[in-house]
Amino acid sequence: MPKPRVIYWFRTDLRLHDSPALQAALDLKPECLYPIWTWDPHYVYRARVGSNRWQFLLDCQNDLSKSITKLNSKSKLLLIREAPQTLFPKLFKEWKITHLVFEKDTDAYGRERDDEVKELAKEAGVEVVIRPGRTLYDSDELVKANHNKPTMSMSQVQAAGAKIGDIVRPIPAPKALPDPGLITLSFNQQKPASSPDINSIQRDAEDKSYHALAGPNQDFAVPTMDELGLKPATTPHRGGETIALKMLDDIIANEDYTATFEKPKTAPTAFEPQATTLLSPYLHFGALSCREFYWRAQDIVSKYKGKASQPPVSLTGQLLFRDMYFGAQAALGYVFGQTYNNPRCRFIPWHLPSEIDPNSGLITGKYLVDNAEAEIFFKRWKEGRTGFPWIDALMRQLKQEGWIHHLGRHAVACFLTRGGCYVDWERGAEVFEEWLIDHEAACNIGNWQWLSCTAFFAQFYRCYSPIAFPQKWDKDGNFVRKYVPELEHFDKKYIYEPWKAPIVDQKKWGCLVKGNGIETGDGKLKMYPKPMFDFATQREVCIQGMKNAYQIGLYGNDPKVLDGTWRKLFDDNAEGPTEGSKGLPGAQVEHEDENAEADGTNGEDSAAPTKSKTGKTTSKKAAEQGKTGHKREASQGTLDGMFTRKKKKD
Ligand SMILES: Cc1cc2nc3c(=O)[nH]c(=O)nc-3n(C[C@H](O)[C@H](O)[C@H](O)COP(=O)(O)OP(=O)(O)OC[C@H]3O[C@@H](n4cnc5c(N)ncnc54)[C@H](O)[C@@H]3O)c2cc1C
Repeated sequence: MPKPRVIYWFRTDLRLHDSPALQAALDLKPECLYPIWTWDPHYVYRARVGSNRWQFLLDCQNDLSKSITKLNSKSKLLLIREAPQTLFPKLFKEWKITHLVFEKDTDAYGRERDDEVKELAKEAGVEVVIRPGRTLYDSDELVKANHNKPTMSMSQVQAAGAKIGDIVRPIPAPKALPDPGLITLSFNQQKPASSPDINSIQRDAEDKSYHALAGPNQDFAVPTMDELGLKPATTPHRGGETIALKMLDDIIANEDYTATFEKPKTAPTAFEPQATTLLSPYLHFGALSCREFYWRAQDIVSKYKGKASQPPVSLTGQLLFRDMYFGAQAALGYVFGQTYNNPRCRFIPWHLPSEIDPNSGLITGKYLVDNAEAEIFFKRWKEGRTGFPWIDALMRQLKQEGWIHHLGRHAVACFLTRGGCYVDWERGAEVFEEWLIDHEAACNIGNWQWLSCTAFFAQFYRCYSPIAFPQKWDKDGNFVRKYVPELEHFDKKYIYEPWKAPIVDQKKWGCLVKGNGIETGDGKLKMYPKPMFDFATQREVCIQGMKNAYQIGLYGNDPKVLDGTWRKLFDDNAEGPTEGSKGLPGAQVEHEDENAEADGTNGEDSAAPTKSKTGKTTSKKAAEQGKTGHKREASQGTLDGMFTRKKKKD
């Protein structure tokens, strides 16, 4: 029998270590193995990707290509510039392929694409081999073990995981790779439609992605940023499996850090170095295997003499959260990424709602400006000129570097949605999609839903103060001074509230607090904007809006949401107060309890929470009424910057 001729299709797994799919390809004992990457126009033109993440991807590809060549000097990563859906039938024929092997992708588009490719392979008589490898558990198995339901809480993940069994141990990288065989491409390239190009704003030169099938030098090389016409990256973080494994080694070498890691105790204001591992972008591109990370951490925990931390706050717990969001996405598909028609996402009539394509029922990427002020809030949030230095510092760090600490993400997400601007979480998720180097659709969407209290979490009365919260971590304001240099010389007393500083001092410290952040000063004196609203007032408005929406209690797939008649249930001013006449505040609705769970982080201000004997936190009102609120682990109940919301006047 002739030996298999295999294409190994790299996508979510830019690594050689612990790759069950690559191992499956090698187990076929192939005569030749073509390691390829298809330059898919979906990601080039239709998914939001900023320069920093492009650069990170190219880094990972270059590093992988070098590692492949180290194992076989005749081989490397072969970049082919065409959509997989049109390329594969031609490749199968040209290279006489018998097997196509790849890692399973449960993203909504990934599934659709792979179904199409599987069909094409079938027609060509090519056997397709798929192995899970991107998550701790196969996300489809996790869903199956969760009664075929999306995983919406950590306890569901843990219970479903226990049914599946132990997380698989990582496998080592191969020591050798077969030759790739003859690399001819005698067919014509089918150029993809480059319009609409959602990423045109990322370019300052012509996009030459698809000028030639094997690239400008016909050598299948990884493209350069220039070839893609992209603006230069500004992030200091560089990609690649080599860097990822070195970073992991360094983390694991610090046994105390690894074994006692508690997410709520890591400072969002720490930089150089940051307080958490910063391994997320490597996990996203598959440059680091999550099982390698999990077991190396778990092995340290198992032999640790002191008191080790446990999920959800521990390092392994963080990886379980990742699996939770992957499970939710695997079960829900495209609608996971939006409110409309999503049975698990609460409907809140946020400002700047997404435009929906009436044919597909999916969000189009555009939005409606229903409120001019909200549009201004959104733009100022995105551009880091809200006038709240903590928020602006984070948004500027995000834009420049593509990564911010988890609690920083909490702060800006809460501020944009239910704790400040009352803007749709989908707007925020899109900005993160563009700018994060670790953007992972499942995790980004899931965390935005969590923070906006539309799914996973329901304690909407717990908001982050842009003043009290950072003060807890960084009294001197060093983080703000780095990312908002206009305020570099401000006294620490005013660093989070610079508008309160006397004008003489503002002048002395070289920056006037005035305007909206568009003007930058006259050369002698810099300018930093005044806050775009009074936070306490705006926060109160948001809480009332959330209460109202929770009381009405619609989910994204409710017929009233689908046909637009939800409007009849809300006041014209959708944020308007509704307290009093309609029973308990929504956050205390019984059925929400099963889903509400802390994500291992804390630090939100609360409207009025108290801690019960069991360690569970309830709102004061609920406590007075003898009702328990949402589950919150005792270890996560510490509050900072707590303030009591002003009582509403009748
Ligand atoms: C609004 C918002 C959007 C987010 N978007 C993304 C995203 O697009 N991609 C992404 O990977 N993470 C996202 N997160 C989750 C989390 O903030 C990042 O995973 C984490 O900050 C990455 O830094 P780290 O690698 O140092 O994490 P560590 O604390 O060192 O954790 C180790 C790993 O666990 C995983 N992890 C940790 N926390 C979470 C979490 N809450 N949800 C899912 N996985 C987690 C990550 O893979 C991370 O690398 C988002 C969080 C919020 C609040």
